[in-house]
Amino acid sequence: MSSVPTKHLRQRALEGLNNSQMRAATRKVVDRLDNGKREASKQLEQWEEWRVQGAKIRQHVIENLDYYLNQLIENVKKSGGHVHLASKGQDAAGIIRDICLQHNAKLVVKSKSMVTEEIRLNKALEEAGIVVQETDLAEYIIALAGEPPSHIIVPSMHKNRYQIAELFSKVAGYQLETDTPTLTAFARKVLRNKYLEAQVGITGCNFAIAESGSITTVTNEGNARMCTTFPKVHIAVMGMERVLPTFEDFEVLLALLPRSATGQKITSYVSVFNGPRKKGEIDGAEEFHLVIVDNNRSKILADPQFRDALRCTRCGACFNVCPVYRQIGGHAYGSVYGGPIGSVITPLLEEDYNFWGELPFASTLCGACTMTCPVKIPLHDLLIKLRNKKVTKGFTSGAEKTVFKIWRRFYQGSGTYRFAMKSAYYLQKPLVRKGYIKFGPPPLSAWTNSRYFPAIAKKSFKEEWNKNH
Ligand code: SF4
Repeated sequence: MSSVPTKHLRQRALEGLNNSQMRAATRKVVDRLDNGKREASKQLEQWEEWRVQGAKIRQHVIENLDYYLNQLIENVKKSGGHVHLASKGQDAAGIIRDICLQHNAKLVVKSKSMVTEEIRLNKALEEAGIVVQETDLAEYIIALAGEPPSHIIVPSMHKNRYQIAELFSKVAGYQLETDTPTLTAFARKVLRNKYLEAQVGITGCNFAIAESGSITTVTNEGNARMCTTFPKVHIAVMGMERVLPTFEDFEVLLALLPRSATGQKITSYVSVFNGPRKKGEIDGAEEFHLVIVDNNRSKILADPQFRDALRCTRCGACFNVCPVYRQIGGHAYGSVYGGPIGSVITPLLEEDYNFWGELPFASTLCGACTMTCPVKIPLHDLLIKLRNKKVTKGFTSGAEKTVFKIWRRFYQGSGTYRFAMKSAYYLQKPLVRKGYIKFGPPPLSAWTNSRYFPAIAKKSFKEEWNKNH
């Protein structure tokens, strides 16, 4: 999937924590998105029932994925489209590169698509001499900054308008004003011509509809529609789980997705594509390709413990409520997919579990992600299972294993437990001030550096209980 970062989670998180500008920008946007989501879900009424229905639809698809994928492929072909199945990320990027080269593409326009980030498509195209123009405003900003996305819905949420003005001014060759209308007008002017020049348009796919072989995109800027109408060739890229059986199912997911993502009843553009342009139609690409990416999704599908994660709609709502994400920011996850869902799927999609298995620890396990997820993915349960997987695979340090062996020994019997607590009470005494340990030695200092640690009480809860009952 993504290239493996050189730094570990702890270092990346510290960098995020030390970046006050990024943290302020992130907090502002996630609060706005989450408040919008709460308001929009209240207005819909019976939100919980919509969630149940959404979860049922997605679960049904996951459990019958081979059937719906076959139906989708058959119907895309009937509409005159070409379908390509890619087992690995580099296979998918290679297929897309080859289609572009067959059409002598020098420039491709792209709308936002996380799966193309996952397969590192831009790098593959650029290595083949093809210029990639991101057309989503946020993607355009981070492409200019040379940075990965920090959120799946608002990839540039860590940037403020002054930073964006700096980036755009370099392109303009003069200093731009920092107000939003000036900046968006500038981006529009640059991007408009690119649609006319590009030979190939590449989009993601929010959902593919099996019954008709349709591809849908849900956007606010209209850029996906421009990518699919001006260039002669349209390539849509989708993770293999992004299928829905019917348009009726799409209606349910369309009620959940924009509300959860941006707090909107519906986005400005909901587009449905059915293969290439037909005779008599006035717009659409002359050639249509659908690239379906596996990239270890079938491994997740085969594991009943983690299969629920494939229900994800990529709405980003779990990012917006996560107390860890809002502090460390999206880049600290080191993966294309950050936040709670990223901490679940990245270790499963990536080959190197030893490295990526630290992501499930970037969570307080408060359960806010599970509560907000529109398709009821039990995210915090999955995070616990992934932590367990790291231990059972033997990827824990010798020191950690020793600590837990000692811990188990003392906690196995009530006598040893009482002895341990009494010893700890007396051992902590030199460090305790007014009921708290304010400065602890390592490794306790990792906690006391930023907050106090409550001292162990002289009497246990059980002793107090027995005394008073
Ligand atoms: S896990 Fe749920 S809340 Fe998070 S992005 Fe996926 S669908 Fe949205």
